[in-house]
Amino acid sequence: MAEAEVGDEQLRADPTVNRLCRRVAELLGTESAMFLPTGTICNQIALRVHCEPGDEVILEETAHNRHFETGAPAALLGVSLYPVAGRAGVFTAPQLEQAVRVPDHHFPRSRVVLLEQTANLAGGTVWPIETLEEVCTAAQRLGLPRHLDGARLFNAVVASGVAADSYCRNFDSVWIDFSKGLGAPVGAALAGSAEFVERAWRFKHQFGAAMRQAGIIAAGALYALEHNIDRLTEDHENAAQLAAGLAAIEGLEVEPPATNMVFFRTVAHAPLSAYELADRLHERGVAVSRMPDGRLRAVTHLDVSHADIGRALRAVQECMS
Ligand SMILES: *Cc1c(COP(=O)(O)O)cnc(C)c1O
Repeated sequence: MAEAEVGDEQLRADPTVNRLCRRVAELLGTESAMFLPTGTICNQIALRVHCEPGDEVILEETAHNRHFETGAPAALLGVSLYPVAGRAGVFTAPQLEQAVRVPDHHFPRSRVVLLEQTANLAGGTVWPIETLEEVCTAAQRLGLPRHLDGARLFNAVVASGVAADSYCRNFDSVWIDFSKGLGAPVGAALAGSAEFVERAWRFKHQFGAAMRQAGIIAAGALYALEHNIDRLTEDHENAAQLAAGLAAIEGLEVEPPATNMVFFRTVAHAPLSAYELADRLHERGVAVSRMPDGRLRAVTHLDVSHADIGRALRAVQECMS
């Protein structure tokens, strides 16, 4: 990052950013890609390209876009969301067909279907490629653009063995986050056809996400793509080990992890509530997120070693006893 060659990203003249965008497009099998500061803005820009105010986005009820982006689709885009109740974050083509509104001037216009790979709040679960293809084929038949929130796409890739471009070819827009499991300090990339990315550039400027010497952070993202994809399997192994250890502790209820996230809660008669447990763990140097529904979430990533899992489990055991 310190040695990155830089230029003015707004003029598309930052060579490191341009190299990153070419690499992302190559990995995802798209014509083009754009560098952005965060995943949240990737979602807003993509939806802005696909939608007009008053349009409706169809997504799974646990979607990040619905819960953790401070109402941005409403606040910034004038777009409403239609949540579908899936199973483990995954819904089906018939459910999509049911969610699409008939064209009528009283109704919002169904406009985009948004899928999340992996599905974060649902437990870091993976959309099976067959279901994903069925939903995307149905969306195409219904004339709906298809958008993939791929914050953790590469976790799905290493967990399933399905290549990134096999997932991405079903979508009109896709993005990946460099600052999650891939371990870069900053950044995300939004990808799609050349025409889609060209239209997205207008909103990148409008939302204030066109940068200057962004090559400094793009260099971290390039490093992450080169070094940190295959090692995601270690995070999945660590998550499995953490979940098995937690399940053996009296008073906890643990969801079996699909990738790198372990969701758990304390049972009703446990000595501590889940949030109290989170506080005590924090004092012991173990960070877990509190979910709004009372669950806790532990995420494994490249700064958490196999030995750290043992340490974390000992800390939980101490707190619970
Ligand atoms: C983290 C996350 C986002 C938002 O990404 P940021 O880079 O934090 O803005 C969007 N969708 C999902 C599924 C996420 O996990």
